[in-house]
Amino acid sequence: MSLKPSSEANPTLDVLVVGAGISGLTIAHELAIAKKYRVLVAEAQDRVGGAITSAKNDEGYQWEEGPNSFQPAPELLRLAVQVGLKDELVLADGKLPRFVFLNGKLNALPMSPPSAIASNILTWGGKIRLAIGALGFARPAMAGEESVDQFFSRLLGKQAVERLVAPFISGVYAGDPKQLSASAAFSKIFRLENNYNGLLAGAILSAKERKAQKLSDPNLPKVKTGELGSFREGIKMLPEAIATKLREKGAVVKQQWTLRSLEKQGEVYISKFDTPTGEETVTSRSVVLSTPAYITAKLLQNYLPAASQALNEIFYPTVACVVLAYPKSEFAYDMKGFGNLIPRTQGVRTLGTIWSSSLFAGRAPEGWQLLLNFIGGTLDPALAKLSESEIIAAVHQDLKKTILRPNTKVEPKAIAVHVWDKAIPQYEIGHLERIATVEAELQKSQGLYVSANFIGGVALGDCIKRSLQEANKIDAYLK
Ligand SMILES: Cc1cc2nc3c(=O)[nH]c(=O)nc-3n(C[C@H](O)[C@H](O)[C@H](O)COP(=O)(O)OP(=O)(O)OC[C@H]3O[C@@H](n4cnc5c(N)ncnc54)[C@H](O)[C@@H]3O)c2cc1C
Repeated sequence: MSLKPSSEANPTLDVLVVGAGISGLTIAHELAIAKKYRVLVAEAQDRVGGAITSAKNDEGYQWEEGPNSFQPAPELLRLAVQVGLKDELVLADGKLPRFVFLNGKLNALPMSPPSAIASNILTWGGKIRLAIGALGFARPAMAGEESVDQFFSRLLGKQAVERLVAPFISGVYAGDPKQLSASAAFSKIFRLENNYNGLLAGAILSAKERKAQKLSDPNLPKVKTGELGSFREGIKMLPEAIATKLREKGAVVKQQWTLRSLEKQGEVYISKFDTPTGEETVTSRSVVLSTPAYITAKLLQNYLPAASQALNEIFYPTVACVVLAYPKSEFAYDMKGFGNLIPRTQGVRTLGTIWSSSLFAGRAPEGWQLLLNFIGGTLDPALAKLSESEIIAAVHQDLKKTILRPNTKVEPKAIAVHVWDKAIPQYEIGHLERIATVEAELQKSQGLYVSANFIGGVALGDCIKRSLQEANKIDAYLK
């Protein structure tokens, strides 16, 4: 069946999904294939995937300019299996160490309690403070919403925040721990403190729960603790396979369709798109906006102004992904690892570096090391003013301080620079209230839904989980 959204015979779709990032595609897949609704997905760009941007060139490099790997959450694995990617999954060794650059050298992050004792990242005072907090002997929270900095300082001590938590936050959000909300940005860890007796007990129990969940589904690929996933040709294989499956099953996936306006007329929504062939109108019983918050805000400006205002308050910093390659001989380390993060106190501008070709096979030619560097973020707004060549030069100087031989004369092979003007939504203080406002406003417009990475977590697995929940709500509404 091929859907003709505006045809006279069949004018009204069940679901219009706006945005073909992983959130929108997951909803479309669930509603079109599992629930058999008539679905159209409209994407503004000429490709699907949104933030997922895998690329390769003729020289033998294959890289990512957005997400570089994922936690193999059951929902993500299940979706990958459903769209035929079970054999394309690649897993990075879970034992590969992660490093923190501190006092002029790399220090491996401890992967177990005994290695935590031996590790040099924290001083003895810092280790004892962390252990006391992790075992559940932290002072209770003060009244009001805690920032990530306040929450982890209270639980684990200031040193652990500076050397472990803050670099990790740079790696996930490129954010500012003093502005991010603990309950919104780290909801799982936040719940551990409240639901279990201390972070350590909570982490062990919830890891057991996750393992039991995975073991209960024999169709999912086997994944060992700590392994991170991608696909043979990069993460983009997932959105592309979903789009292909949707088309095969009769759903419509339009590219270069940009939603300009949306209104409700009686029981249906009328959506107007700019397309390469002029304006198109889609009539549908329900609409899901899977667009970034600042775009969703514009689309809802006249229709649900309070939701629009709340969405506009969600900040997205500028982050550059800088993909560079060097001969292996130029490194000060053997480069067996996941990558390194850099605390803001170490005089290095780059936030962190993923050692891409150490993670997955086939990402660089023999003898070369491929690196994905992140620079910018909430604490470095001046990055937005740099040219591409200035960004490359800044990262190269930093790499000479962190992982390259300091006296190397080799210049980087610049593979790609992708400046994300608005990279990742920041779950800052007040975020949950803003989302509650959006959800309350949506109640005024039955059949209108919002699902994207500014609700329920930014990681790919979180986007998929949250979108499946949203699909269930839409299913209940359409029934
Ligand atoms: C640099 C970077 C690194 C990351 N690293 C990781 C990582 O390693 N692991 C991980 O799990 N996650 C990572 N993430 C997070 C993760 O990639 C994102 O949170 C996720 O991909 C967002 O998916 P989404 O569908 O919610 O939004 P998006 O991917 O932003 O999709 C939204 C889509 O809406 C489209 N759109 C916008 N306006 C319109 C319109 N008017 N009409 C039609 N379509 C429109 C856009 O073109 C886009 O395709 C990273 C993100 C970034 C930016």
